[in-house]
Amino acid sequence: MKLDILAISAHPDDVELGCSGTLLVHLQAGAKIGIIDLTLGELGTRGTPTLRAQEAEAARIILGAVIRENLEFADGFFENNRTHQIKLIEAIRKYQPDIVLTNAVEDRHPDHGRASKLISDSCFFSGLAKIETRSQGKMQTAWRPKAVYHFIQDRLIKPDFIVDVTPVWEQKMASIRVYKSQFHDPDSKEPLTHISQPDFLNFIEGRAREFGHSIEYPTGSGVELNLKQIAGKLSNRLIRIFQLNEKGERPCMGNNPKFQHDPHFKDHILFYEYFHGETGAGLGASHQTGWTGLIADLIDKYDPCV
Ligand SMILES: [Zn+2]
Repeated sequence: MKLDILAISAHPDDVELGCSGTLLVHLQAGAKIGIIDLTLGELGTRGTPTLRAQEAEAARIILGAVIRENLEFADGFFENNRTHQIKLIEAIRKYQPDIVLTNAVEDRHPDHGRASKLISDSCFFSGLAKIETRSQGKMQTAWRPKAVYHFIQDRLIKPDFIVDVTPVWEQKMASIRVYKSQFHDPDSKEPLTHISQPDFLNFIEGRAREFGHSIEYPTGSGVELNLKQIAGKLSNRLIRIFQLNEKGERPCMGNNPKFQHDPHFKDHILFYEYFHGETGAGLGASHQTGWTGLIADLIDKYDPCV
């Protein structure tokens, strides 16, 4: 079975805390997603591996993942070695994900950084045909995901990009709350841990709000804006493709002097099904309504003068 996105992490609940919003947003866009946990989380202070497995299954249903597997590596003691890499390569080749989401590159829990390196190394090795693996007796084909992205966990790491998970926030939190054995439960008699303190879930929300509030745009500029401001800026870039520039030309007319300057043509904007994203030159069938219809919608929503 081929997946679009495969989230692989050290412990059941890492995915829910770290990237379940991203999974849900892509699920809604039609992506096929799956989850692989390396361990049963058997060293967790609270709960039991059986309970944790039931909670992980309940979370899988909320997240709409088509598969959730557990490789049953030793919690706390798995290593980045050939044995563990081969198990992961088998799983990566089995599901052929385009994108892998995985643990933070370094974190409070030592398993997270170690898993991150083990998983990203395995994604690379999975693309080497001379590493032979079999599934149900059949030789597997080499497969390397196009991208491996690391989510942020306990320790703050400056992100390279942010995914807006506002529309799925409640589902994300629901997928976390099913881990009743791990997080705050006023009736629990189990020892208090770092993540079962009453304020932990507020911390998760607080960090998400902070990230949503402040994003560098354009990348590398040092200017930080919120998502709404960025949506406005991007919309206006698209709208400008159809507006007259300082030379009195419209980028969407490309290099055609007749379209740019002939009074019979210059103000008649064709509808292009698609166009060049940088220059705006029409590429696709004209007199269609696809992309250009999007621009009309953006003009409606965003003031072109922002
Ligand atoms: Zn973890």
